Amino acid sequence: MGLVNLYSDTQTRPTSAMRKAMAEAEVGDEQRFEDPQVTELCSRVASLLGFEAAVFLPSGTMCNEIAFRLHIRPGGDEAILHRTSHPIIAEAGGPAAFAGAMMYPLDTPKGMFTGDDVRGALRYPDRYNPRSRLVSVEQTTNMAGGRVWPLDQLRGVVDVASEAGLRLHMDGARLMNAVVASGVAASEMTRGFDTAWLDFTKGLSAPLGACLAGSAELIDEAWRYKQMLGGALRQAGIVAAGALYALDHHVDRLAEDHANAQTLARGLAELPGVSIDPDTVETNIVIFEHDEPEGLCAALREHDVVMGAVGPRRVRAVTHLDVDGDGIRTALRALERVCVR
Ligand SMILES: *Cc1c(COP(=O)(O)O)cnc(C)c1O
Repeated sequence: MGLVNLYSDTQTRPTSAMRKAMAEAEVGDEQRFEDPQVTELCSRVASLLGFEAAVFLPSGTMCNEIAFRLHIRPGGDEAILHRTSHPIIAEAGGPAAFAGAMMYPLDTPKGMFTGDDVRGALRYPDRYNPRSRLVSVEQTTNMAGGRVWPLDQLRGVVDVASEAGLRLHMDGARLMNAVVASGVAASEMTRGFDTAWLDFTKGLSAPLGACLAGSAELIDEAWRYKQMLGGALRQAGIVAAGALYALDHHVDRLAEDHANAQTLARGLAELPGVSIDPDTVETNIVIFEHDEPEGLCAALREHDVVMGAVGPRRVRAVTHLDVDGDGIRTALRALERVCVR
């Protein structure tokens, strides 16, 4: 039995079938729109997410950064988003540096917020206040444990934001997990949003790449920032072929990751010193509480099981293509050895 790596769903490696699709891909110059794989990928993602156009980018972080740059105008514009969301906790302050965004972090339960929460965050328009401009949501929520925004809650946020003339952005790093878990189409979830994106390197298990979608006009503008950041590519079809392969073969199987996360959560709930409510685990992210996250992760590592300490009392385990049912059983046995002494 090899390493059971539950550190993140970014830990997957391309399968041999995916590598074959990549090796055989016909390619061209991506930034001249001559790469057939990238062209196909962008049109598939645009239609999957219900937008006119999409642009292929090296990473999800670049999707967020470019989207913030698209929506935030110079002069004190403010974005409303959850305090644990990726642009706040994991992009090196990029929205401030690159877009000049003022951030309004919401501290609401489960990494999600409601239309009323947005209403409460709107700035009164006068010269003392920043200008409310953008609402950004994360589907699924990462640091709140892979929660799926219910459709009516998304609609509530869209209604309040649109009424106030705000732009809307969806960080869809794990949007397909939300789709598979809820049975709601991606294009339904993104309705009313100005931009949304998909990551190919999370549960979809491709080695790199993400696609940002929006109106033709916004995506044209996104290309300027892609150029500026050095994200314009050449024979990117090599990796886009992996992403296309993932869309064909790795979406429905996300249900297995969700079932494995459920098994892991139920096993964890039985252990002393561990606190978790398995009913809160909706997709592939399992976050539990423990008094010594670092010590626990180090002890698990001795048993070839990897999890991440993500807070003073929090451990995160993420299921994915490279961890099967046996891997979960191995992880639970290791946890039992470490926790029951
Ligand atoms: C991973 C992640 C990102 C960033 O994607 P990268 O491809 O790693 O740059 C953004 N948002 C969320 C919620 C993520 O989990």
